[in-house]
Amino acid sequence: MKSTIVLLGPPGSGKGTQGEKLCSEFGYVKLSTGDMLREAVKNQTELGMKAKQYMDSGALVPNDLIIGLMKEKIAAADGKVILDGFPRTIEQADALSGQLDVDLALNLDVKDEELIKRITMRRSCPSCNAVYHLIYNAPKTEGICDKCGSRLYQRDDDTEATVLNRLSTYREKTMPLIGYYESRGKLVTIEGTGTIDEIFEKVRKAIQ
Ligand code: AMP
Repeated sequence: MKSTIVLLGPPGSGKGTQGEKLCSEFGYVKLSTGDMLREAVKNQTELGMKAKQYMDSGALVPNDLIIGLMKEKIAAADGKVILDGFPRTIEQADALSGQLDVDLALNLDVKDEELIKRITMRRSCPSCNAVYHLIYNAPKTEGICDKCGSRLYQRDDDTEATVLNRLSTYREKTMPLIGYYESRGKLVTIEGTGTIDEIFEKVRKAIQ
């Protein structure tokens, strides 16, 4: 089984959801830069206050704020690791390669139309970071996280206007990573549409 996995794919492609399932079924540790940044914003740390403006507009947070932080988290992580949302630029991928060998870059391919529907109907848990979809993956009790009972919220950047910016940022800055990992023989692309369990079957095969 692959021990270091990078999850690639546009916002809303299911990286968080599939990553969570890999953690609960196979014991991976998931490091999500988006979750770390949202935590920093919530706690109003220096990083959070610097990062918020970029996140709210759908841009990437500058590399100097994110690379050092991620390197520290990776160094502290024990066992099999999943990186969700990092690297997001070639520069980040180069920084990562100096620290860790990536065994698999798993690219979730989903069409823009579907991504917009998924993201605008997404609701997130501020405490445990679980994600839901109002129709396809609704919580058992409306507005409440199944896992920890916290009240769900809509992320500030999950509105339609910001999603379009996030998608164009993805195309410009992150999509080149598909070629980057393909040329290194690490890329597997799977179609990220269908039910969560159907997609997970494909993910499960890819990590063997
Ligand atoms: P995510 O939860 O992965 O969709 O990330 C939410 C936002 O956090 C992104 O739109 C970026 O503004 C920021 N972000 C997350 N990961 C990174 C990264 N690796 N590099 C730069 N910005 C990031």
